[in-house]
Amino acid sequence: MSAYSFTVHTENHSQMIDITQQVRQAISESGVKSGIAVIFTSHTTAGITINENADPDVKRDLLYALEKAVPWENGYHHSEGNSAAHLKSSIVGCSQAVIINNGNAVLGTWQGIYFCEFDGPRTRTVFVKIVEG
Ligand code: ZN
Repeated sequence: MSAYSFTVHTENHSQMIDITQQVRQAISESGVKSGIAVIFTSHTTAGITINENADPDVKRDLLYALEKAVPWENGYHHSEGNSAAHLKSSIVGCSQAVIINNGNAVLGTWQGIYFCEFDGPRTRTVFVKIVEG
């Protein structure tokens, strides 16, 4: 079993950043040919998701729909003032798992792995845990 981590610098308040290459690199460095990679972020106002990597409007629409569903101002109680970001984090989730086959992450042609920032800009950490099996 191997564990990797890398840093993501976000530039906007809400943003999706493609981290597929960093995950593929971690899998490659592990030498694991068959198994599972868990991609996890240790933040309460961010998320990890898998979605389309071709049309950038998909990212825009996803962030737009989350903003519509969870407005920044909505009479929340959390005194830090970023409840919407916490809610989006729980909706999206803070981890994903991908299958490793022949030393590569199994992803569809149009799938990418995304770090989702909901309260940026910040410096964030993503962990990749690889389990052989
Ligand atoms: Zn908070």
